[in-house]
Amino acid sequence: MDDGTEEHSTIWSRLSRLFGHDTQESLEKAIVEARAEGELEPYEESMLLGILRFDELQVQDTMTPRTDIDCVPEEISLKEVAHVIVRSGHSRIPVFKDTRDNIVGILHAKDVLSSLLDHEGKTPSVSSVMREPFFVPETKSIHTLLQEFRASKQHIAIALDEYGGTSGLITIEDVLEEIVGDIEDEHDAPRVEDIRQIKDKVYELTGRAQLDDLQNLGVDISSDEVDTIGGYLSMEAGHVPEQGEQFTLQGWTFTVLEADRKLIQRLRMEPTGNEMSLSVQDRADQA
Ligand code: ADP
Repeated sequence: MDDGTEEHSTIWSRLSRLFGHDTQESLEKAIVEARAEGELEPYEESMLLGILRFDELQVQDTMTPRTDIDCVPEEISLKEVAHVIVRSGHSRIPVFKDTRDNIVGILHAKDVLSSLLDHEGKTPSVSSVMREPFFVPETKSIHTLLQEFRASKQHIAIALDEYGGTSGLITIEDVLEEIVGDIEDEHDAPRVEDIRQIKDKVYELTGRAQLDDLQNLGVDISSDEVDTIGGYLSMEAGHVPEQGEQFTLQGWTFTVLEADRKLIQRLRMEPTGNEMSLSVQDRADQA
């Protein structure tokens, strides 16, 4: 009968090998090496790295940004809120007074449903059904937030910037995803990948692609002011670039494929000098 001894000795040797290192950097290196040598599965590597990096992350690194929050004004009716819940697929909807910077409550789908059913004739107001928001500074560590979520039995918080304005929304799912990777629930809309390889060294990016991730592709761009390529190009240009605008940076050409007044939505990135092949590809895409 298998008593698991062999399995244990492998796990113990892995652990002592991994944790026999004293700095985080060497621990990370050991984990990456262990994976390269086949001692760890890819999911084990990414979870271990996630745990090691967990302490360094703040709410602002993982929250849903303010512009993407599905929220409602407090004057709205509960019936309309029910439509917003169905359309957005989110079970908790922040309520704001006057502007998004002033979130005054959170509506939970369960409360909305039971109010609608209990008061079929005259439904109560949004403000009588919403719950108190839990506010956190955007700079709070997600490690501390996880403990607070557990202690308060709340699983959603509104992040505030230093001026008290709304900066984003964060749920326990966002925090746990830093360790276990993307958790897709049955209501999550499919997300467009931020970086998609089209062919060798040609990528299609969303404006939200992170500079850190581009660095892993050999693009030497970094900034203290912004995190995303869309933000970076807007900063360089001094305006939100329009469709068709091109930028050459560090040997790469960025072509804006789609943009609106406020944001670059999609762009293409390729080594400078390859633009001709791109326009052929573009025509092929349009055909
Ligand atoms: P839900 O199932 O209600 O969407 P989760 O906690 O599973 O809530 O969160 C899933 C993702 O959706 C997270 O990234 C979270 O930040 C985001 N999210 C949750 N509620 C909202 C909302 N009202 N508007 C925008 N994003 C939201």
